[in-house]
Amino acid sequence: MALCKRTVGPRPRIYLSAGIHGDEPAPPQVLLEMLKTGAFDTRANWFICPVINPEGLHFGTREDTLCRDLNRDYLDRLSPEVQAHTAWLQKQPPFQLTLCLHEDWEASGFYLYELNRKNQPSFAPAIISAVRPMMPIEASSLIDGRPVDEPGIIRPVSDPLLRTNWPEAIYLCQEHTTLSYTLETPSSFPLSERIEAMISAVKAAVNAVNLG
Ligand SMILES: [Zn+2]
Repeated sequence: MALCKRTVGPRPRIYLSAGIHGDEPAPPQVLLEMLKTGAFDTRANWFICPVINPEGLHFGTREDTLCRDLNRDYLDRLSPEVQAHTAWLQKQPPFQLTLCLHEDWEASGFYLYELNRKNQPSFAPAIISAVRPMMPIEASSLIDGRPVDEPGIIRPVSDPLLRTNWPEAIYLCQEHTTLSYTLETPSSFPLSERIEAMISAVKAAVNAVNLG
């Protein structure tokens, strides 16, 4: 009897980025660990930018060596790092999902931003549920100056065209995807715990794409 292979449709295109802030060491290690353990498998076509700010990561600084916050440069695109990144992005097909991995020195728990241009079913509850057994979810009702929509979930409503500087996620949503998550682990937790929690968050989002 012949073995049946699982019938698969077109693979979703999933984009992941890390290391745009050099003082956030867990995210690049998350991607390295997932690469080593085979997590980037045949369920998707993967587009991975593991270290957008290599100088910052080397020196442990948020900004690059010219004190530019690269995650505010996606409207003007003045830095060579963001110019190179966006030039590469413009050669890629659209993504079903983008995940930008970050850490937050002021947070006391995990949280995320969701940009969901077409009001698709949200993956945010599944991501939060995956992280909750591993680390606290940020309990504050106001995170980084923005009100939460649900515990640990920020859904910004501001019009990106009114913003004078764009983070990577807004650029991605304007040009390359309809669904973007920015994931944030709290920097005060042990590095190994942040890495494990972030891996769970990424895997939950990837599973959600494949179930969708
Ligand atoms: Zn960051």
